[in-house]
Amino acid sequence: MLTVKIIPVLNDNYIYLLHDQHSNQTAVVDPALAEPVLDILNEQAWSLDYIFNTHHHGDHIGGNRELKKQTSCKIVAAAADSYRIPAIDIAVNHGDVLHLGEHKIDIIAMPGHTSHHIGYHFADKPWLFCGDTLFSMGCGRLFDGTAEQLWHSLQWIKSLPANTLIYCSHEYTLANGKFALSLEPNNQATQQRIAKVTALRQQSQPSLPTNLADELATNPFLREHSSELQANIALQDAQAMAIFIKLRQLKDHFIS
Ligand SMILES: [Zn+2]
Repeated sequence: MLTVKIIPVLNDNYIYLLHDQHSNQTAVVDPALAEPVLDILNEQAWSLDYIFNTHHHGDHIGGNRELKKQTSCKIVAAAADSYRIPAIDIAVNHGDVLHLGEHKIDIIAMPGHTSHHIGYHFADKPWLFCGDTLFSMGCGRLFDGTAEQLWHSLQWIKSLPANTLIYCSHEYTLANGKFALSLEPNNQATQQRIAKVTALRQQSQPSLPTNLADELATNPFLREHSSELQANIALQDAQAMAIFIKLRQLKDHFIS
């Protein structure tokens, strides 16, 4: 059995700690910090085998050095990021396959937020660890990637089975929900989702993982086809990518 522990750190980051009981293998996705991960490893008497990095930002790799020093784990990251992620042990490219115990993991290039961002896809679950590519009801900002790249990355996510659980790296759901509702005030799925997440957050519970079905129903960045959304941004019947680019620009300046 493969389990995921969600570790909230910094203001709104999540570190995901994966443990496969059968093989006793453990991996951590995007450790912003080492300490909270080491605490759980000690408590559970697990040894850390891998760090899976999605991209080079400090709030995703900040704990790499200390975790590697303390546990001798192997750092997995995009080969193209070797110049900005130190001490990579397993440099991966799109289409590469890794395993955690018997669970197969596909490496998926998902540029946009950064130019070499990758995701870790467990097709047999199905789970996707997508870093800062898709957020619940939102998507990543553009740093050194382009809007076109991010749009293509989101199209790939859209093609996954609707029951895919999506583990993104930040708790942005409620702030994103305000933007989503400003575009589609009559979307009942969005209204219901915001009510549900508000209750969870009041109890300090994470709103993640999200699932693709909920995102398809509520995430404006996956809803270029919505006529209500199109009317609200005055881009009726435009190309999906053009609508996406406009949405990304509007979100950059949206004051919630
Ligand atoms: Zn980032």
